[in-house]
Amino acid sequence: MPILDYMSQYGYEQLTMVTDPAVGLKAIIVIHDTTLGPACGGTRIWPYETEEAAVEDALRLARAMSYKSAAADLPLGGGKGVIIADSHTEKTEAMLRAYGRFIDTLGGRFVTTTDVGTTQRDLEYIKQETRHVVGLPTTVGGSGDTSVMTGLGIYMGMKACAKEVWGSDSLAGKKIAMQGFGKVAFNTAHHLLKENAQLVVTDVFESALDRARGLGLEVVSPESIYDVESDIFSPCALGGVLNSATIPKLTCSIVAGGANNQLQDSSHGDELHRRGILYAPDYVINAGGIINVEAEIGSDYNPERARERTERIYEIMERVIRLAKTEEMPTYRAADQLAEQRLASVQNIKQIYRST
Ligand code: NAD
Repeated sequence: MPILDYMSQYGYEQLTMVTDPAVGLKAIIVIHDTTLGPACGGTRIWPYETEEAAVEDALRLARAMSYKSAAADLPLGGGKGVIIADSHTEKTEAMLRAYGRFIDTLGGRFVTTTDVGTTQRDLEYIKQETRHVVGLPTTVGGSGDTSVMTGLGIYMGMKACAKEVWGSDSLAGKKIAMQGFGKVAFNTAHHLLKENAQLVVTDVFESALDRARGLGLEVVSPESIYDVESDIFSPCALGGVLNSATIPKLTCSIVAGGANNQLQDSSHGDELHRRGILYAPDYVINAGGIINVEAEIGSDYNPERARERTERIYEIMERVIRLAKTEEMPTYRAADQLAEQRLASVQNIKQIYRST
């Protein structure tokens, strides 16, 4: 489909392409929707093989951010930045500062943060040129590592699911199979272990597994994580892991984890529903990271506000479950519907004249 038709069909506001050949900058900034507030999204630095692939990724990811922030009750819209480069070999201070200048020209319509290929140090370079950047290190007054709140949010989402399935939100004694034991999984495990849940984990990196063993956790091979008899399966590594090869192996009652885009496609959300497995939509329960950076916008970072808002993921997950039950639809569709309803209701606010 031609890009402008695609943008019209899915409600995109703006696609900006910027270059600065002197510093090797080729970037794309997409603003999907600013109904609820400035478009916020990370900047991904990735050596895309084609410009089309980069544009496609930026469009897809920007729209996903609108849904994530809308579902999380944040005053933010959705956007995404993409720089076409290899972050290991091509990223420079000059490139990041040039990119920051372009963000600044958008006048606050787009606020960025970290993503694949960008670090908090990179944000400090961008910050030299624009104030529209969040997720900075705590040493410079930023909100720091997002995975701490992301872990808390996943835990709250799991508890809301447990309440629905077992009538109590206690996770004591529940067996939870975690795929990936990186930053997000570690921070989720912290809460689960305090509640005496039983964790079985896997990872492809020995150092991550050593960390798990250090906490006394059972470790299995990456291939066998789907076969673990569990109450909850928690994908915390990659996307696309819920598919026709893996779903039939699952013995759990709940799928709730932090990885983005867990469903290979929407039919797999339908399949989980058909099998009576309660799926916590990824973008609903992994929103702690965006909630954390939002607490940095327009004021000093306020950790209490971030924590309180992240804890609300429990209620939001309850709302998703309620709608899914009433409408007899899978939870992933209920989450989309709630996000779309919020956007539509704010879009409907009557325009009134205000003198400037
Ligand atoms: P991370 O890199 O710290 O951890 C990911 C872990 O998964 C790594 O230890 C890696 O070795 C492991 N892994 C990779 N492939 C695997 C496989 N096939 N089997 C088992 N383990 C595998 O990243 P993270 O920050 O913990 O993020 C994890 C997921 O959560 C990602 O999908 C990310 O997009 C998503 N997410 C993260 C945040 C955040 O705040 N960091 C917020 C929202 C969503």
